[in-house]
Amino acid sequence: MATPHRRLRVIHGRDDIDLPAAEKAVADLLTALGKDPGTEHLADTPRRVAQSYAELLTPREFNLTTFPNDEGYDELVLAKEIPVQSLCEHHLLPFHGRAYVGYLPGERILGLSKLARVVELFARDLQVQERLTKQIANWLQEHLSPKGVGVVIEAEHLCMALRGVRAAGSRTVTSALHGVLRENPASRQEFFALSGLRA
Ligand code: ZN
Repeated sequence: MATPHRRLRVIHGRDDIDLPAAEKAVADLLTALGKDPGTEHLADTPRRVAQSYAELLTPREFNLTTFPNDEGYDELVLAKEIPVQSLCEHHLLPFHGRAYVGYLPGERILGLSKLARVVELFARDLQVQERLTKQIANWLQEHLSPKGVGVVIEAEHLCMALRGVRAAGSRTVTSALHGVLRENPASRQEFFALSGLRA
C-alpha cells in the first residue's frame, strides 16, 4: 500500500520578535540620525517600522501536504516567476525578484501552490540570495526525495540599486541544482529552457 498523505504543520512564527524593543531601537536610530522622533510627523514611525520588519521577517504559516507519487509522474514540475521578497542581512534593505522552482518527481509530490510557500518560508528572513536559493532546493530535496531539483532566483537588491554602486535595474541570478538536473546536461537544459532562462 502507498504511504498515506503526509501532513506537516510548518510553524515558523517569529516569537523571538520583541516589538516594543524594536520600536525603541527605531526611535533611537532616528535620534542617532539627527531626527527627532518626538515630532508629530515621526511620532508613529517607530511603531510602523517595527511592524514592517516583523512582517517582512515572518512567513505565513502553511499546511504542507505531500502526496505519494502513485501515478509515477516523472516529468519536470516547474513553477515560474514566483515573487520573492526578502531582506538583505547586510543592509536590512529589501531585495526582490522572481524564483523558478522545479523538480523531477521521485517518491513524493507537492501541491503546486506550495512551491511558492516554500519560497516564502525562507525569503521572510534576513538573507543573502545564495543561501535563500540553496535553502529552497535543500528543503525540496529533503521533503520530496525527488530525482532532481532546480531553483533559480533573479533579484534586484535595493542596497545595490540605491546606494554603493547605484546599479539600478541590475539583477543578480543565483541557482541551486540537485540530482539529475545537476548531473544530466539534457535535463538541466530542459529546466532552463522551460523556465525561459538561459542555461
Ligand atoms: Zn545588501
